[in-house]
Amino acid sequence: MCRACDLRTLGQVRAIRRFTVRTLLPVELGDLDELAHNLRWSWHAPTRDLFAEIDRDLFTQVGRDPVALLGALAPERLAALAGDEAFVQRVRETVEDLHHYLSAPRWYQQQSDDARGSLPTSIAYFSPEFGITSVLPQYSGGLGILAGDHLKSASDLGVPIVGVGLLYGAGYFKQSLTRDGWQVETYPVLDPDGLPLTLVREEDGTPAVVTVDLPGGRVLHAHVWSAAVGRVPLLMLDSNVPENDDAARRVTDRLYGGGGEYRLQQELLLGVGGVRALRLWSRLTGAPEPEVFHMNEGHAGFLGVERIRELVTEKGLGFDEALEAVRAATVFTTHTPVPAGIDRFEAKLVAQYFGGDRAVEGLPVERVLALGAEDHEGGDPLLFNMALMGLRLGGRANGVSLLHGAVSRGMFSGLWPGFDDAEVPISSITNGVHAPTWVDRRLVDVAARALSADEIATGNGWLREDGVSDRDLWELRRTLRAQLVEDARSRLRASWKQRGASPAELGWVDDVLSPDVLTIGFARRVPTYKRLTLMLRDPERLRSLLLDPDKPVQLVIAGKSHPADDQGKRLIQQLVRFTDEADVRHRIVFLPNYDIAMAKTLYPGCDVWLNNPLRPLEACGTSGMKAALNGGLNLSILDGWWDEWFDGENGWAIPTADGVEDPDRRDDLEASALYDLIENQVAARFYDRDDSGLPVHWLSMVRHTLATLGPKVQATRMVADYVQHLYVPAAAGGRSLNGSADFDGARELAAWKSKVRTGWAQVRVDHVESGGVGEVAKVGDTLHVKAYISLGELSPQDVEVQVVHGKVSEADELGSFTVAALEPSETFEAGRHAFSGDVRLDASGPFGYTVRVVPKHKGLSSIADVGLVANAAS
Ligand SMILES: *Cc1c(COP(=O)(O)O)cnc(C)c1O
Repeated sequence: MCRACDLRTLGQVRAIRRFTVRTLLPVELGDLDELAHNLRWSWHAPTRDLFAEIDRDLFTQVGRDPVALLGALAPERLAALAGDEAFVQRVRETVEDLHHYLSAPRWYQQQSDDARGSLPTSIAYFSPEFGITSVLPQYSGGLGILAGDHLKSASDLGVPIVGVGLLYGAGYFKQSLTRDGWQVETYPVLDPDGLPLTLVREEDGTPAVVTVDLPGGRVLHAHVWSAAVGRVPLLMLDSNVPENDDAARRVTDRLYGGGGEYRLQQELLLGVGGVRALRLWSRLTGAPEPEVFHMNEGHAGFLGVERIRELVTEKGLGFDEALEAVRAATVFTTHTPVPAGIDRFEAKLVAQYFGGDRAVEGLPVERVLALGAEDHEGGDPLLFNMALMGLRLGGRANGVSLLHGAVSRGMFSGLWPGFDDAEVPISSITNGVHAPTWVDRRLVDVAARALSADEIATGNGWLREDGVSDRDLWELRRTLRAQLVEDARSRLRASWKQRGASPAELGWVDDVLSPDVLTIGFARRVPTYKRLTLMLRDPERLRSLLLDPDKPVQLVIAGKSHPADDQGKRLIQQLVRFTDEADVRHRIVFLPNYDIAMAKTLYPGCDVWLNNPLRPLEACGTSGMKAALNGGLNLSILDGWWDEWFDGENGWAIPTADGVEDPDRRDDLEASALYDLIENQVAARFYDRDDSGLPVHWLSMVRHTLATLGPKVQATRMVADYVQHLYVPAAAGGRSLNGSADFDGARELAAWKSKVRTGWAQVRVDHVESGGVGEVAKVGDTLHVKAYISLGELSPQDVEVQVVHGKVSEADELGSFTVAALEPSETFEAGRHAFSGDVRLDASGPFGYTVRVVPKHKGLSSIADVGLVANAAS
């Protein structure tokens, strides 16, 4: 049914009622329904095989979608299957395997008793998009795929996560091209009844409803659909319901479909409605209430406001107390250093949703607005910034690679004046990808035949000469490349038909690409900073690389531009026009409609994965990780994850022209470096064969990549890092503030912060003395430091007095430094105190130190938590 309405676009006639006629499965096959509705099939090949076996052609026709397959089967076929003893037995075994996967203790359950007590019982993970399978097209790119991989890996590890998102009526758009290479968007309407989803219902069977009040007395209603991602439930709110007026029904029409108020309403539904959906889910299923809330990017920031409202109206907390309770248990992940990637709304628009007739007692609109205020230097006071709200509501925040963490600390340092960038409380956890989703099963099979499970898990098996032989590895790489070539040809043919070519004109497509030519892939969204067309900087140079008689290169390219981004569409057009040229079209292709389905063939088929963003704007990047898991070598600017894990043997680093101001010149320099690398290193090595025709050096790089990057780039590593470094501390913080029925911890912390904020104006470093070091300081000497501090009304227990010391530059700047606490040693009248302590000089060279005072409390998540510091005057 959903397939039949593919041609309908939004904005046309809407049915007033809708229902789906479901296939009634014979009892013997009843379990197929569960298998189709648990998305574990998307990363479990045996389950997919079971569906494929029912009817291979039909399965391909319905886009390898188990729910659609079951819906399309004729009753006679079902009856025949029900009578097939062997098939019924396989269904039974497959569902038993699923049940075992769903119930057996996994990594999380296998932690030691001690550790288990500190693990959160439930974590809510909010994201505006989730990329789990192409059957559920609720994603646009990296952010969504990451969220999908996060849930899948959490499921594999047994981490008790609940995903929360929106169900978009048309998901993200499908991309096709005009004859002239211009991107065309279509929005096939999805029918939730035809998707692998289950409507959440009240006990009496009626659909459960979440509501969010809108200005002017309107109410936004949403139904909640749940998807089963292995062990992890994903709740998706859908506003296309009969209770809504027309405008409200459209709130979840499209992913990233508009700006302004439309987007704001989506984010209110995601944040506020999402928390309400979780409450409803717990009430109906008995699932534990989440202890930790994780925002994947700022879009879901209003979840914090909703939790503050709950505490204020239901538990009688004051705003500040509620804010502390919420902050302690909230994690915020920032994903972009590109300002355009951050949602900002007019503050006065946001005010309409939390003020006036919408205002809630105890939740003053000014306080809500302050959470997103750009009140730092250079900020726009008229705007409300979702990333800033994320940072203010998230007691713990992180970027998504080491480099991105550092870039984010610099970018947001305005929120923590007085602190060094290095102390801005944003850590990093490098992204990862879900191996069972992204590793081609042929590679899995080859590995399983030759290596032990342990050798595969550690990666070490790939280094064994007598494991997978060079010949088998090279054979495998060729098979994967050939599979991509096949797929590319059929996609290209379909695209040209759509572009108006007749089959007679398309004979050349049969010879496009070759399974024996060095294959470079480039696929990603098309924001300017990713520089889709850098490779076209010198078209003649590119042409000669493609057409080299001895060492040719072929390029497979894909990517969608945001519908509102005409500049991105121009880049696509420029590229497509080049790929259309008759002399090169067999060596360079642009494949429309990049999605998960395409990606699963593309990554394994490429020998080299190219990435050339404008450093440092790529926060992490994950496509290169998926290539690496399949033995692809990365050729990338040192940005995001590659800056961290490039080691000289796992691929190539394209030198950046950092610091070159003129962007044109920078592109020229970097493109030229790229061409040189491809020609002199990449192609040279790929075609360097031994007597038996094997590229021995190349294969050693492939092995090295599989062995060393393989384990690191996995999302199980990432999720385990989140558990250890963010979820456990957030749960501990949350428990200490919310643990008692009266929220004593939150009340006490809020009162203490208020006292410290009020008293801080009087805190200063009056005078610092030092001794213990003679005329000439020597390594090993001990410097005694004594600082006289005015604390006004505050007591020495409220603060930490610190010596910040280290190597200094000629301008007396402390580059990297160490912090040592001084102890209170004397108290004088009028709130004055002395603090003292020792610093050992353990390195030679120019040394400097300063003294500062920061607030101290066991409830603080970092030294910069309160944002107050009194530095010694220089
Ligand atoms: C992995 C993936 C992305 C994200 O790739 P980046 O390298 O982060 O740009 C986007 N789209 C699809 C379909 C993917 O599989």
